Amino acid sequence: MPELPEVETVRRSLAPRLAGRRVVASSSHPSAKFTPAIEVMGAEFTTIGRRGKYLIFGTDDSTELVIHLGMTGQLLLHERPHVDDPYVRATWTLDDDTVLTFRDVRRFGRLRVVPEGDYTTIATLASIGPEPFGLEFDGDRFYEALRTSNRRLKTQLLSQRPVAGVGNIYADEALWIAEINPGTRSLSRPRAHRLRDAIETVMMQGVANGGTTLRDYRTPDGDTGSNQMHLRCYGRYGEPCERCGAILIKRTYDARTTSLCPICQAR
Ligand SMILES: [Zn+2]
Repeated sequence: MPELPEVETVRRSLAPRLAGRRVVASSSHPSAKFTPAIEVMGAEFTTIGRRGKYLIFGTDDSTELVIHLGMTGQLLLHERPHVDDPYVRATWTLDDDTVLTFRDVRRFGRLRVVPEGDYTTIATLASIGPEPFGLEFDGDRFYEALRTSNRRLKTQLLSQRPVAGVGNIYADEALWIAEINPGTRSLSRPRAHRLRDAIETVMMQGVANGGTTLRDYRTPDGDTGSNQMHLRCYGRYGEPCERCGAILIKRTYDARTTSLCPICQAR
């Protein structure tokens, strides 16, 4: 599933090519998850933003097109209409004749059009935590946010509430770097600070590498990211820990496979 670094890579690629462009034609798959695509017909994209894993395109109609890529969603920009592709769920033809396509094999992605800044209909976005690169993502505040719940740490991170944009890959990477067990239910203040720094580190590295491509994730030009070459824990169970040499193990939390080092990340 695309996480913050993948979504940010998509945003950076699209921003200069979409901002100021008007939608002159639009089509969508009949599912209600994708039909909002046509609500921006005639509107001009003014801002190409992101919050956590959500892309947020502002328009001159004072609305926002909010896109969640789900598990397999891709936004691709073509010079001309695409050839028949059964996985295209929505298209927007722009006034420079380029076509923005939302392709989603498994259909867990979702499009919505909302009044500017009004996310009351998108629960996760309405309650989302701070961006990992902003001043708001402060170690003490992160510690306080984690203290409000006694759910497992990994579950809390995936909820998007303590910090925005973390999914399975970057959660496993950050917890390994910080040497913290993902099943922990409470963290000391110094360990919360260490985890905060590790999250910032893995997110910055992910963006710098153009995201992690395991299967479906592509940039709008169809390219893959390279961060998969730099993963140190995620998906590496059965291989030796780079730090201590112990064999990384696998645990399941919330039906999500988690890799961890039984020595470095002992409880
Ligand atoms: Zn280790």
